[in-house]
Amino acid sequence: MTTSVPAETDVLVIGAGPAGSAAAAWAARFGLDVVLADTKTFPRDKTCGDGLTPRAVHELQNLGLGDWLATQPRNLGLRAAGFKQTLLLPWPGGTLPNYGSAVPRMELDAKIREVALDSGAIPADGYRAVDVVKENDRVVAVIFEIREDGKRVTKEIRCKRLVVADGAKSQLGRSLGREWHKDTAYGVAGRAYIDSGRSNDKWISSHLELRGEKNEVLSGYGWIFPLADGEVNIGVGTLATNKRPADINLRTLTELYTKQQRELWELDGELKNFSSALLPMGGAVSNIAGKNWMFIGDAAGCVNPLNGEGIDYGLETGHIAAEMLADTANNPNADLTHLWPGELSVQYGTAFSIARRIAGLLTVPGFINTFGPVGMRSKSLMTIALRVMGNLVTEEDKDATAKLWRTAGKFSLKLDNRPPFS
Ligand SMILES: Cc1cc2nc3c(=O)[nH]c(=O)nc-3n(C[C@H](O)[C@H](O)[C@H](O)COP(=O)(O)OP(=O)(O)OC[C@H]3O[C@@H](n4cnc5c(N)ncnc54)[C@H](O)[C@@H]3O)c2cc1C
Repeated sequence: MTTSVPAETDVLVIGAGPAGSAAAAWAARFGLDVVLADTKTFPRDKTCGDGLTPRAVHELQNLGLGDWLATQPRNLGLRAAGFKQTLLLPWPGGTLPNYGSAVPRMELDAKIREVALDSGAIPADGYRAVDVVKENDRVVAVIFEIREDGKRVTKEIRCKRLVVADGAKSQLGRSLGREWHKDTAYGVAGRAYIDSGRSNDKWISSHLELRGEKNEVLSGYGWIFPLADGEVNIGVGTLATNKRPADINLRTLTELYTKQQRELWELDGELKNFSSALLPMGGAVSNIAGKNWMFIGDAAGCVNPLNGEGIDYGLETGHIAAEMLADTANNPNADLTHLWPGELSVQYGTAFSIARRIAGLLTVPGFINTFGPVGMRSKSLMTIALRVMGNLVTEEDKDATAKLWRTAGKFSLKLDNRPPFS
C-alpha cells in the first residue's frame, strides 16, 4: 500500500474521520488530485456517542450514502428524561430529514472513507503527520512517520494545498500555530458499549438529571443511543472551562449511570471498550488557516457546544472546504488565511456564539438544578431547545424560533471579546 502513495498532490488531507473523508471525497469529485492520510489503518474505532443528527444524515445522503443509511437504525427524536419528567421530542424535520441514526464509528468512518476513495482520493494509511515544510508562508510538504519493514521511517508528501482534519488534539496544529481557548466552554465526555434488550428503541435518550453516588445532581448529562445490533452506546458528558474544570471521573460516572439505567434499558453484562476525550467547541480555536492550508471538523473547534455533536459539522466543513479549494484552484493569489475563518463565521458564527454563551452558563454550579426542572415541565420549551441545541435551524427556516435564534446569535456575537474562529 505504501508504494502507491504519490510523492506530491494538489490537495493533501490529514485525518480520515468524517471531516477529512468528506473533504477528500468532495475535492476529488471537483476534479482535484487528493491524498487522504491517516495515522491509523481502517476500520478503526473513535471515542464517540455514534449519534447522527438529521443534519449529519442530510450530508451523508449528499455524499451518496442514502441507500446504506436506509439499512442502519433510524431514530425519531430525543427522549429527554429528568426531574420527574420524560418527554418524547421528535426531530423537527423542515428543510432537514425528520429522522436521525446511530452507527458505531468503527463502521461509519470506514464507510465515509470508502466514499472518498471511490471518488478518487488516494489513501495513505498508517501515515502519521508530524510536521510541515514551509516556503514563504506556504506549506509545501507534510512530513510523516510511517512503519516500514518493522522500522520507523519518515516520508514527505508535497502538496499545493493542505486540509488539516486530525481531530480535537490536532497534532499538526502545533506546527501551524493553532490555539485552543479553554476559557470558552469545552466538552469532557466518555462512552462505552453494552448489550441491551432495547437496542431497537426508536428514540435516542438523554438524561438531563445526572446523579452522583450521594444522589446529588451533577452538572452534565447521560445518554443512551440504541445501535440496533443488540448493543447501545452509553455515555456521560459535561462542560468545563479553565475557570470551572470538570471535577468528575468519567469512567466511575459511566459505571454509576449504567447501574442506574440497567433495569430500565435491560442492560446485560459489563461495559465494553470505555474511552473518553476532551472536545473543543463553538469555534474556540484560533489560527485555523494560512495562505494555503485550512483546519476543519474538530481541529477547527466545529462541535456544537450544547450537545457535543460534531459529526455533522465535520461532514459539512469538509464539503465547504472542498468547494473553496475548487473555487480557488486556478487563482495563484488566493489566500485562505482570512477566507476560511470568514466562511466558517458566516456558516456558524452566530449559532456558535450564542450556544457557547449558554454552555458557559451550564458550567455554573446549581444552574441545572435550578433551571432543569423548569425546562422539563414544558414540552414546547424543550421542543425548541432540542431544535436549537441540535443545530437544526437552517438559513432557509423563517419561523419565529429560527428568527429568534439568529437574532440572539447576532446580539451575542456583538458582545464577544473573541468571536468564534478568531
Ligand atoms: C465521548 C464523545 C461522544 C461524542 N458523541 C457524538 C455523537 O453522538 N454525535 C456526534 O455527532 N458527535 C459526537 N462526538 C463528537 C465527534 O466524535 C467529533 O466531532 C467527530 O469525530 C469529528 O470528526 P473529525 O473528522 O473532525 O475528527 P476525528 O473523527 O477525530 O478524526 C480525526 C482523524 O485524524 C487522524 N489523525 C489524528 N492525528 C493524526 C496525525 N498526526 N496524522 C494523521 N492522521 C491523524 C485520526 O486517526 C482520525 O482518524 C462525541 C465526542 C466524544 C469525545
